[in-house]
Amino acid sequence: MTGERIQGNIFDIKRYAIHDGNGIRVTVFMRGCPLDCWWCHNPEGIRPRQAGQPGQSGQTTPHTSKAGQRSISVNELIQEVEKDLIFIDESGGGVTFSGGEPLMQPDFLINALEAFGKRYVHRTLDTSGFADTEVFASVLEHVDQVLFDLKLINEEEHAKYTGVSNDLILKNLRILDQSEKDVILRLPVIPGITDVESNIRAIGELVSTLENIDTLELLSYHATARAKYERLGVEFRMGDIVPVSERDLVSIKYTMESMGIKVIGGPE
Ligand code: SF4
Repeated sequence: MTGERIQGNIFDIKRYAIHDGNGIRVTVFMRGCPLDCWWCHNPEGIRPRQAGQPGQSGQTTPHTSKAGQRSISVNELIQEVEKDLIFIDESGGGVTFSGGEPLMQPDFLINALEAFGKRYVHRTLDTSGFADTEVFASVLEHVDQVLFDLKLINEEEHAKYTGVSNDLILKNLRILDQSEKDVILRLPVIPGITDVESNIRAIGELVSTLENIDTLELLSYHATARAKYERLGVEFRMGDIVPVSERDLVSIKYTMESMGIKVIGGPE
């Protein structure tokens, strides 16, 4: 299928984004995610709760709510991004594919990434890493930067809080480590779930074994998504959990740094 005919299923396009990669970016939020994280900030981009499957070539996004959905062709997306090219170029920014999980729509994603590559627009992929390894490796060939989530190292805990095993994610992390890409690992710091000492240490130990990736960003949990859940009529499983304190973030940062990891984000 040609790039003009493949449609991407998205739920938002955010202009002037400054937290999704270098510089000023256009972030494309793609619908559908095989995970079901308790703390997800974009419930409109995921799906009703059921067992997930990793992204496969040709797969569309069946597991999605209807909120905000929109189809877009690669050409239409290019036109959207080109409106901001002046800011993108001046700031060293680009386009970021986020979600949901972009790897669930590999045909559209690869076509779009190729098209932006031909136009010299910097391309970032923001991913959970949960996809078939072949899909993951093919998409990697067309990106400049990867923001890769690391949530929980214990497999059972991962399954409990995200709905899927972390097996595939950890396998893809090794593939990513061998690529030449600019990579930032991202840890959502979720109180009582991902911030427990055993998980922080396990993440630190895992990252220490990587050959090329050494940067981890701490993403503080905040409860602002609660209103979205209420609007969508979906249970908000985080209850009244409050974000981790600045002091706890500093402690996580120190633990990671003591294990040789470069930490960005987190404490001011
Ligand atoms: S991987 Fe990201 S988009 Fe998917 S459910 Fe988890 S937090 Fe939400």
